[in-house]
Amino acid sequence: MNITGKTKLCIIIGDPVEHSLSPAMHNAAYVELGIDHEFVFVASQVKVAHVKDVVTAMRVMGFRGLTCTIPHKIAVMKYLDEIDPIAAKIGAVNTVVNDNGILKGYNTDWLGVVVPLENILMKNVGTSLDLSLRNKRVALIGAGGAARACGYGVIEKGATLTIFNRTVEKAERLAEEFGKNVGTGKYVGTGRDLSLHEYDIILNATNIGMGDLINETPVPKSAICEHHIVFDVVYSPYETQLLTDAKAVGATIIHGTEMLLHQGIAQFELYTGKKAPEQVMRKALEQKSK
Ligand code: NAP
Repeated sequence: MNITGKTKLCIIIGDPVEHSLSPAMHNAAYVELGIDHEFVFVASQVKVAHVKDVVTAMRVMGFRGLTCTIPHKIAVMKYLDEIDPIAAKIGAVNTVVNDNGILKGYNTDWLGVVVPLENILMKNVGTSLDLSLRNKRVALIGAGGAARACGYGVIEKGATLTIFNRTVEKAERLAEEFGKNVGTGKYVGTGRDLSLHEYDIILNATNIGMGDLINETPVPKSAICEHHIVFDVVYSPYETQLLTDAKAVGATIIHGTEMLLHQGIAQFELYTGKKAPEQVMRKALEQKSK
């Protein structure tokens, strides 16, 4: 450990937060770049009622970075000095940077969705010759916080979007917010018929596949085709039932750790001003999650 009196603090807050892989990922990157005397990354469990106190502490104590996870991404926004326009559009902040006492909120989650998808498309997966997200048909399952970042990202890159959610009204509200060319479909779960053949990409942005729902999947195996790219934002377990099923039918899969990695890379660069060491960060994540 290389901590000195000048070391700057970056903190992830959440409730719960003990499961977070962000400290391992960021600290491994600090060591790799030889800046572990400049930065240290820790986690702190914080109740929503105390978010304002954390922001005050950030100002008073001069923390460099504040990473927000569930349930703080919206709550933190009203205490900041500036909100980046993309974060304002998504309606959530996962990254706060302290620049000489000015606290600015950003959202890097959308990059965590778009970058892995673009990386896969660049390898010319599937039948299309178009290697970008433009005009790709995306079926997004979920309409909560993660879905907002997913939806914003794929629309920004020119994909067409259909949102499926258990609470249909929430999907409709989100579709309306995103504007024209965004459709909604009824979420039917695993038990019933669901046809996703016409889509290129299936994106799960629900909690299904983790915690109490670890044995569940949001999409029946029969609805997954070989031409699909299936991206699950759930990263614990490393491979969800959805991804296991998708792999079994020959679809291309993207693990939730890739989202965690790429939102983390953008965040690392905002906190440190340095290019993030991608492979070291991926290894740190995979070591902890597999
Ligand atoms: P959220 O705002 O609470 O939204 C949860 C979503 O899941 C809602 O659409 C909800 O539907 C749906 N849902 C929950 N339980 C369900 C069930 N039993 N059946 C059907 N639908 C159900 O949560 P969030 O912040 O979006 O997080 C969602 C997931 O994304 C979490 O697993 C989180 O860990 C993950 N995530 C991953 C990353 C990453 O970097 N990989 C980043 C952010 C989030 P209703 O609207 O009907 O309630």
